[in-house]
Amino acid sequence: MRHLPKVLIVEDESSIAELISVNLRHNGMTPIWAEDGESAQREIDAVLPDVILLDWMLPGQSGVMWARKWRNDPRTKSVPILMLTAKSAENDKVSGLDAGADDYITKPFSTQELLARIRAVLRRRTPEQSTETVTIGCIHLDGATHRVTVTDIPIKIGPTEFKLLNFLMHHSERVHTRSQLLDKVWGDHVFIEERTVDVHVKRLREALGAAGVMVETVRGTGYRLTSQVQVDSLSQQP
Ligand code: CA
Repeated sequence: MRHLPKVLIVEDESSIAELISVNLRHNGMTPIWAEDGESAQREIDAVLPDVILLDWMLPGQSGVMWARKWRNDPRTKSVPILMLTAKSAENDKVSGLDAGADDYITKPFSTQELLARIRAVLRRRTPEQSTETVTIGCIHLDGATHRVTVTDIPIKIGPTEFKLLNFLMHHSERVHTRSQLLDKVWGDHVFIEERTVDVHVKRLREALGAAGVMVETVRGTGYRLTSQVQVDSLSQQP
């Protein structure tokens, strides 16, 4: 299943928030609306968004204050922030960027421009996943349909394990450190511990059944996918 990017819209004007939401939905993203910084904070505490669209002029504390706060918070530190502002003065743009916004867009803006800016910050965040098919030993992966077969038998695999396998298969026989895998599979803006990689490698091996031995642990270094191992076809069935 494809991950729909979650976009947190922090905007007190409901008509603007609604317009943005409709456009995001039509473009395969999930909008979450908060009308001020406090409610945005509650949304963030519940689920971390992929991008924050932050209005400059908000009731209570200003968008710039919130940008600064989220930039200094380890949880939100690397979530891209796109400032929405009616102010076009150069000084304001500079203070928005100084506060930690990744980009800004001046109201009134075209929805096409807004979508392009959101896609740009998302691209910086999400690593490219190959959509090609690849076969290594008895494992066959189709990047376009997200199907994996082991000795021609389809297997059930979670979305993260799929991404991990996709990367390992396209870069097989090479050893990848946990930090490299986080970077290439999860994206360099994502704050997760290196141990998370171990958890997903374990799940990947389970999903692969007998072919799980092809995902090798290289002690003190990381992981590699190799076809240079004996896969016991008799232990295929659990
Ligand atoms: Ca406003």
